[in-house]
Amino acid sequence: MENDYTFKVLVLGDPDVGKSSFVRRYVDDRFSSSRAQTKDVDFALKHLHWDSNTIIRIQLWDLAGQERFCNITHIYYRGAVGAFFLYDVTRPSTLEAVKKWKNDLDRKSDGTFIPTVLLGNKCDQVCGKRKMDGGKMDDLCREKGFDAWFDVSAKNNVNIDKATRHLIGLIMANDALYSPNNFHDSIQLSMEVSSMNRPEETKKGCCW
Ligand code: GDP
Ligand code: MG
Repeated sequence: MENDYTFKVLVLGDPDVGKSSFVRRYVDDRFSSSRAQTKDVDFALKHLHWDSNTIIRIQLWDLAGQERFCNITHIYYRGAVGAFFLYDVTRPSTLEAVKKWKNDLDRKSDGTFIPTVLLGNKCDQVCGKRKMDGGKMDDLCREKGFDAWFDVSAKNNVNIDKATRHLIGLIMANDALYSPNNFHDSIQLSMEVSSMNRPEETKKGCCW
């Protein structure tokens, strides 16, 4: 293969919106309704044959989404070249929370442009009732700087492939981001974070 890339991609959003389910569907094409709570961060790797010359390894960083981590999120964000922001279409408060996650990433990414895609998960529960909200979602994307939005269902495998391909396309078009050094930093950092102790001393409360 001529081109071989590794991309660090963040998966952000409040607890229970379906981040881990989204990752599991994308990586393993599986869904389980039982919850295994994410502690700090889970990693998953997806290999993708982008075209006949290009293989992409997507290293997904699935953050627990608990507020108590937010004053250390900059550690997790380092070296990321893209991000998915998830909310639960049945719980409006999770859409509000996603705006805060986006502010947090913007604040801590030192002005580096990171392509982002907003995902409204659990769309299987609203059965097409949301079509009229499209204009509102476009406005929100413009206002908060998301590059695109999709309604998805990790459960029924709706739009998962489309949404992920969209983000990867944006990352590929943003080639300033993925230098060999960036790749090295990302791998190094995932080793550091894996061996990090749980930050019990992290203050409760919020960073935004
Ligand atoms: P996380 O905390 O954001 O990682 O969320 P989880 O992936 O653990 O999911 C939280 C709950 O939502 C679990 O009970 C999942 O089975 C459920 N869930 C996740 N995705 C979907 C979906 O697309 N549709 C439905 N109906 N439930 C989902
Ligand atoms: Mg999780």
